[in-house]
Amino acid sequence: MTQAGNMSQQALDILQTIYGYDQFRGQQHEIVNTVIQGDDALVLMPTGGGKSLCYQVPSLVRSGTGIVVSPLIALMQDQVDALNALNLRAAFINSSMDFGEVASTEQALLSGDLDMLYVAPERLLMPRMLALLDAADIALFAIDEAHCVSQWGHDFRKEYMGLSILSERFPNVPRIALTATADERTRVEIANNLQLTKAAHFVSSFDRPNIRYTVGEPQNAKEAMLAFLDANHVDEAGIVYCLSRKKVEQTAQWLNDNGRNAVAYHAGLPASTRELNQKRFLREDALIVVATIAFGMGIDKPDVRFVVHLNLPKSIEAYYQETGRAGRDGLPSNAWMAYGLQDVINLRSMMAQSDADEQHKRVENQKLETMLGLAELTTCRRQSLLSYFGDVLDEPCGNCDNCLDPPQTWDATDASRKALSCVYRTGQRFGVTYLVDVLLGKSSERIERFGHDKQSTFGIGTDLSANDWRNLFRQLIARGLLTVDVDGHGSVMLTEESRPVLRGEQTLHFRKSSKGTGKGSHKSARKRAPININDSDQPLWEALRVLRKQISDMAGVPAYIVFNDNTLADMIALKPRNSGEMANVSGVGSHKLEQYGDEFLEVIREHS
Ligand code: ADP
Ligand code: ZN
Repeated sequence: MTQAGNMSQQALDILQTIYGYDQFRGQQHEIVNTVIQGDDALVLMPTGGGKSLCYQVPSLVRSGTGIVVSPLIALMQDQVDALNALNLRAAFINSSMDFGEVASTEQALLSGDLDMLYVAPERLLMPRMLALLDAADIALFAIDEAHCVSQWGHDFRKEYMGLSILSERFPNVPRIALTATADERTRVEIANNLQLTKAAHFVSSFDRPNIRYTVGEPQNAKEAMLAFLDANHVDEAGIVYCLSRKKVEQTAQWLNDNGRNAVAYHAGLPASTRELNQKRFLREDALIVVATIAFGMGIDKPDVRFVVHLNLPKSIEAYYQETGRAGRDGLPSNAWMAYGLQDVINLRSMMAQSDADEQHKRVENQKLETMLGLAELTTCRRQSLLSYFGDVLDEPCGNCDNCLDPPQTWDATDASRKALSCVYRTGQRFGVTYLVDVLLGKSSERIERFGHDKQSTFGIGTDLSANDWRNLFRQLIARGLLTVDVDGHGSVMLTEESRPVLRGEQTLHFRKSSKGTGKGSHKSARKRAPININDSDQPLWEALRVLRKQISDMAGVPAYIVFNDNTLADMIALKPRNSGEMANVSGVGSHKLEQYGDEFLEVIREHS
């Protein structure tokens, strides 16, 4: 066998014996081979695609230590624990360690006793660390979350810019940069800023087929969320995103009041509380974190079963990234969003009031438009999402709300004309609540004072309910026929686009509001396990989870580090009777077999 062929075989052996997986997924093998041969790689793979193996396996095949640059110190511990659980020699160096710990880790690096070493970029770039690396045998540099080097992206970190020196200082060490951020512009910036000019690019499809997208506009978002959780996610981990800190706290409290296990996470909480809540989220397997967008980057918990948005995200990029935190392990997961008129108004006026320069504002506004377009869409959401990222999905996905439960549309032309002329005749100075009152003919002191009760549009809308009108206004704003004033009072005004409708030259078809969006309508009956497990196997599933929890509590590591849900599901499917059969279960490598095999076999035996 050629040397390359030999190393490629070695990589596969490592995958099977150490990780307990049958085969590489997607482009993993090609990427691994590229790096093993000493070439650079730029890897764009969606969350859950399996990026870690792309640098871990080459670190093991090549001589020396793999240096992994990772932005979040708080998460290094779990990454290292996961590798240690496979009996690999991994460590990190960061500012939380005392001198003695640092010194012994440095020594381990120098004596070649480490397979992988995690460091934050600012640490890596210190003269002392660079000198240490000069003296050590290095297998590769892996730059995780590489989009942090892009100013265009959403997580720019200036320390990442310094990483370009790696190519000059260590010209013979292969570098692999990895990110889940899709767009072309970010990719170009990563390659430039990290001097990865000769790197092979590996771009995977960004589809996350296991995530079901649902967007609705329920009247009571929190109640609808609870119904959704009851129907789909009893006792499972998830994230609920809100826009403001206040709403985060209220929502967490409300979930707890309703018998859920929820904690809050936002930038206004003390660092220690944040850290604790994050840790609990990683360790426990059924905690809900209610958070602002400050939560989630780099969280690689594989069994997040749902991501809820109680507000509209600012862009499709943000939405895709946040929802992408669900279902890293490939098992069925939900991305569920509730939004309403107020979101549209808030976001519009937030953007209008921002101090960003005009060009920046224009870009932000465009992004919001596309996000709104996605929310109001009546066709397959996944097709639209993917096409935004330049991916083509030929057929509707069959796993989003619009595919599963095609929305009804109605001819809203007439109603829209009434609404638009009401805006016009009241002088484009009022907010939606006022306008709806006028349309419904609900007089008030204020309406009388302005004389709008004598106005031709007063009371012309009694055929629809107040809620129907609010929905209609939302859609008119979302489609750009109305715009919201920058004054912060939410006055709505006509745009050029409304003219053809007012003149009767254009008809409008809007989606009928989904009743409630409790989405019990998705007949996905209460699922205890995220995988299709027979009723008769439910007790085994529960028992395996209990055992896993005991072991992980004892070891002080997250449950998934012991075995992830996929592995438990595979145990149920195969029902191994001895350790030879247990070794065939996906995710049971040699070390875990030795460590936990017997205990899990015992539980399986008890249930057969
Ligand atoms: P990413 O970093 O791209 O989000 P991870 O590296 O965390 O993804 O991998 C996601 C999950 O998929 C992990 O649970 C991992 O163990 C699993 N996985 C990765 N590669 C394979 C494979 N070849 N076979 C089976 N499972 C895999
Ligand atoms: Zn679809």
